[in-house]
Amino acid sequence: MFKFVGIGSAFNTEKGNTSAFLKRDNSLLLIDCGETVFHRLQELNLLDGLENLYIIITHTHPDHVGSLGEVIFYSYYILKRRVTIFFPKKQLIEGFLTSIGISAEMYKLNSFERIAVNDAQIGEFSIEFLPVSHVDTIPAYGFTIRLNGRVFYYSGDANDISKIALEKLKNGQIYRIYQDTCGLDYEGNSHLSLRRLCEIIPQELRNKVYCMHLDKHIKEKEIQNNGFNVVKIYEE
Ligand SMILES: [Zn+2]
Ligand SMILES: [Zn+2]
Repeated sequence: MFKFVGIGSAFNTEKGNTSAFLKRDNSLLLIDCGETVFHRLQELNLLDGLENLYIIITHTHPDHVGSLGEVIFYSYYILKRRVTIFFPKKQLIEGFLTSIGISAEMYKLNSFERIAVNDAQIGEFSIEFLPVSHVDTIPAYGFTIRLNGRVFYYSGDANDISKIALEKLKNGQIYRIYQDTCGLDYEGNSHLSLRRLCEIIPQELRNKVYCMHLDKHIKEKEIQNNGFNVVKIYEE
């Protein structure tokens, strides 16, 4: 369903900053927009001819918003379209965008925690943001997205899985989870270690979990051997 232009953690730039997308004709729904993302979108020609561009932002760390400004500028000046941004903290994202020279008329912002969209190409989709535990300095969100009758959960950066999402996974309401998973394992970790993930997700549900935002300390084999999936980097 979702494809990924990058699957790495902030320091694992070799794998690109983690960012998922869904493209239907001239509509693109993008999740996060870290430093490496604009470059990858250009490389993959994913911005060519776009008429509708939506970007869900999970939080304002550089590996999630680092090239957001570039994408907004490109969309505004080259595509002559305004990006629609979804992020629950209005003042925070407005302040960030103002500080990098983006004025209010260049983008649209939707700061509701529950959002319903009807796009001509993608169809109807609805997003529900859920606060997640990541760092103390800025708010961070995961979200569920309902699309084509299926519900996906996307963790953003989080050191735990939202209890609501976990319940819904267990009772079958969530079809798939995309989860920030790391190899490093220590007290106070801002990401979810594979060891913790194994504690949280029972064996029989692990095939519904796709690990992303991988650091350099985790091996894909190790993730798969524990019954989880690993997201793949999209190649044209
Ligand atoms: Zn991150
Ligand atoms: Zn982060």
